[in-house]
Amino acid sequence: TIVTRFAPSPTGFLHIGGARTALFNWLYARGRGGKFLLRIEDTDRARSTPEATQAILDGMAWLGLDHDGDAISQYARADRHREVALELLDKGAAYKCFATQDEIEAFREAARAENRSTLFQSPWRDADPSSHPDAPYVIRIKAPRDGATVIRDEVQGDVTIRNDQLDDMVLLRSDGNPVYMLAVAVDDHDMGVTHVIRGDDHLNNAARQMMIYTAMGWPVPVYAHIPLIHGPDGKKLSKRHGALGVDEYRRMGYPAAGMRNYLARLGWSHGDDEFFTDAQAQEWFDLSGIGKSPARFDVKKLENLCGQHIATSDDAALLHELQDYLSATGQPPLTDAILSRMQAGMYCLKERAKTFPELLDKAEFILAERPISPEPKAAAQLDDVSRRILKELTPHLQTATWTRDDLETLAKHFAESHNTTFGKLAGPLRAALAGRSATPSVFDMMLVLGRDETIARLSDAAA
Ligand code: GLU
Repeated sequence: TIVTRFAPSPTGFLHIGGARTALFNWLYARGRGGKFLLRIEDTDRARSTPEATQAILDGMAWLGLDHDGDAISQYARADRHREVALELLDKGAAYKCFATQDEIEAFREAARAENRSTLFQSPWRDADPSSHPDAPYVIRIKAPRDGATVIRDEVQGDVTIRNDQLDDMVLLRSDGNPVYMLAVAVDDHDMGVTHVIRGDDHLNNAARQMMIYTAMGWPVPVYAHIPLIHGPDGKKLSKRHGALGVDEYRRMGYPAAGMRNYLARLGWSHGDDEFFTDAQAQEWFDLSGIGKSPARFDVKKLENLCGQHIATSDDAALLHELQDYLSATGQPPLTDAILSRMQAGMYCLKERAKTFPELLDKAEFILAERPISPEPKAAAQLDDVSRRILKELTPHLQTATWTRDDLETLAKHFAESHNTTFGKLAGPLRAALAGRSATPSVFDMMLVLGRDETIARLSDAAA
């Protein structure tokens, strides 16, 4: 079976790039009946915080990226990482290096002076253990000196790194602590990871990690290093391009399905398909569809997809997500009464709303409570003449059948009998029903509010 993983370092929030990496791994595993694992790379004790881990878990939960099993702490596995370093030492694939910092510096200086590679070449690599001093040492891997390492990458193709550019990297520091590179290789192997999908800033690390795999005789996973995300100006995505944290998009009220759809399209494509469901994404997602050049973050595209997801989502699910948005932004939840009106009005609220704040804005006529206090622009519609007309309209509404067709016919006839057009009546009606001039259609509002509430609001305005 396929096993993928997301391996964030918990040093901040879950950013767009990380979320995209997590999504790709999730899609790849979920579409193939595989497993998607989560490993928190918390070995940097100074920079890792539990808050950051929580923010990553929250962001993934919001995006619906569920992982299999418990999240694994890399730091908690340090003993195992040490064990592998010692095993490599036993095998003769690694060695104890007693070179001091000064000696390494002297080596580099000499190399610089002679225009040689400054990569440290330890004199201890082939030293007889009987000559070992009783002094602090690090454990280094014996990197291959000749030839080249080829990373077979599903995105980048074959990437060749000359072995004379790889040094005998340290596996265990002199204090016995394993280095990050060892931890990643050991964890990926122990977790049974078959596919490593991650940012291409880790491409060079792959060559070093492969050294460990090879020395241990482990099978090398499939690699897919994805180009980083750029801003609309083609430069690496950064704070100056706008929001970077997934939580910020959540708080701006983008629906998670739209975000998933957009992130999936960020660097991956399936023909001309822009809008798709999770099921389609899982079925279609493949490493061959990942582009070689950096994708550009485009908020307009994100909004467009979010609009399509809102328009096509199940109403109850959308309302559930709306409540989540309110709670994430510290707003009170909608009451049951409001919710049931929202449910009835979803068909018109969903139109052209790209975010939850836009949906709520359209729902203002539902959220508003009597007596409605109209905005200045709407209040101006309620002059004496229109207030009298609204007053005359109410008895007709008392007896009307409450359907769109009948309400439309009634309004048309009523307008004609008052020598006016429905178009002229619409302004005062919007002002009376919603207190605003931009609203869903008057008939949609009447149908959603129902007869009693409609008449009550018109009477309030006419009084
Ligand atoms: N912890 C690394 C990061 O957050 C990812 C390492 C990996 O995926 O191998 O960039």
